Amino acid sequence: MSTQLTARPSDIPLQNLYKLLQPITVPTSSPRAKFSNWGQTYHCAPLAVFEPENEYHCELVLELARREGKVVKAAGIGHSPSDLACTNGFMLRTEKLNRVLEVNAEKRYVVAQAGITLKDLHAQLAERNLAMINVGSISDQTLGGIVTTATHGSGIAYGVISTNVMSLNMLLADGSKVTCSRKERADLFIASICGLGATGFILSIQLEVEPAFRLKEIQESMTFDEVIRRFDELVYSAEHVRFWWFPASDTVRCSYSDRTQEPKSPAGSWWWHTFLGHHVTQFLILVARFFLPLNTWISHYTCWLISNRTVGVDDSHLIFNVDCRYPQHTTEWAVPYENAQGCLRELRTWLDQENHDPNGIRPHIPMEIRFSAPDDIWLSPSNGQRTCWLGIVQYKPYGFNVPYRKYFGGYESIVARYQGRPHWAKAHRLQPDTLRKLYPRFDDFVRVIEDVDPNGTFRNEYVQRHILGEPISGRVFKSRQT
Ligand SMILES: Cc1cc2nc3c(=O)[nH]c(=O)nc-3n(C[C@H](O)[C@H](O)[C@H](O)COP(=O)(O)OP(=O)(O)OC[C@H]3O[C@@H](n4cnc5c(N)ncnc54)[C@H](O)[C@@H]3O)c2cc1C
Repeated sequence: MSTQLTARPSDIPLQNLYKLLQPITVPTSSPRAKFSNWGQTYHCAPLAVFEPENEYHCELVLELARREGKVVKAAGIGHSPSDLACTNGFMLRTEKLNRVLEVNAEKRYVVAQAGITLKDLHAQLAERNLAMINVGSISDQTLGGIVTTATHGSGIAYGVISTNVMSLNMLLADGSKVTCSRKERADLFIASICGLGATGFILSIQLEVEPAFRLKEIQESMTFDEVIRRFDELVYSAEHVRFWWFPASDTVRCSYSDRTQEPKSPAGSWWWHTFLGHHVTQFLILVARFFLPLNTWISHYTCWLISNRTVGVDDSHLIFNVDCRYPQHTTEWAVPYENAQGCLRELRTWLDQENHDPNGIRPHIPMEIRFSAPDDIWLSPSNGQRTCWLGIVQYKPYGFNVPYRKYFGGYESIVARYQGRPHWAKAHRLQPDTLRKLYPRFDDFVRVIEDVDPNGTFRNEYVQRHILGEPISGRVFKSRQT
């Protein structure tokens, strides 16, 4: 067997391939042999789950999939609030591919395996006095997960995080290992940095970083009308601006963050944010499952909790990240920045109407409003346009389900009218005919995946449904009770 540890996977007899894969095959009795996303909204039972520890292991899994005609789907840590990471084929869990391979402080880049979580990456970058340029609301995700979905933070001059990717090392469906960048195999690169995992398996990622920095964040509350009236001024008033809109309270919490040399002085306290903001709120949301109007008061309560003006200074990722609390239903669409004010006004009119209806929708948490610079990534929702992201959530207190379909359906019909593009990691219903109109380079993406993966080895159900228009139900991996 030992000679086969370096043998070309295609030369290994099938029985030996099974033996070589055995140590990284998750036993069917293990809970990890099944997969649920973090929000507990999608579940799958793959044919086999592998936990590779090195690149060679990945090659072996791919070889088995090729011989047996199976799909291989990479899964990061399952934070996508859709069935994007689900499969009925082979699943490749990437969490053990988590090493930093190179750090170049002078040229400001890091090369890391795709399974590293952002939390680990922040820690290792900090040791070299470096940091990621922009980060979203959490740092639990893997680097591969955020790159393939064009995950974003906020900042009108800052692109989605994939814009910071300099090159990728990939394992393609034919078993070859390639490097791609804007100079080398540029089409494959541009397709892969928001490629939904459909272009190939990403082994490692070269990411542009910057010297470690602190952010000074100012938060204050304003009326909805004032925010809409001063929209441009506010959005451009700091490097990283984001809003949380509480429709029931007609209030928008505004956050402005800039790089600073000031010493750390975090805002907030455990009592206020963790006890009242997290635990008490969760209990109230549970009660509101049985008494719907309470949701309006929960919204008033959480809005009141954060009503004071605050100023905090902390390490960048600690300011970028927020408490995303509990498992949730969530969706987020990107509208062209020019359409944002009109879209928000229409959303407000609709939610006001709902609020006046005794049986109307009662969102219990704010809508998150963020911004990105335009980019040229084919499937990035910011492709070719400044973007305003509008995200909504309905929490599942203690894992219990809550009504969300009517709210999400109404929201989606409005944002779609403003040329909205859904976040790829979040559940949506768009098919290729609509997506093609929204993304000028959609067919280039399809061409690349057909070229590098003619047999569809990396195409799971989500990709088959949304990119190729195959008749696969959006509920194939949905929990029954939701
Ligand atoms: C609480 C919460 C907060 C969030 N905040 C934000 C936010 O602020 N901004 C934002 O834009 N999004 C946000 N998201 C969405 C999140 O960033 C994406 O869903 C991200 O893809 C999750 O990463 P993951 O490691 O869990 O990947 P998974 O969900 O496991 O997988 C996502 C995709 O990545 C692919 N993939 C993973 N690794 C590889 C690899 N090595 N090679 C090829 N493909 C690979 C998978 O195949 C799959 O298609 C949030 C989600 C949650 C639940």
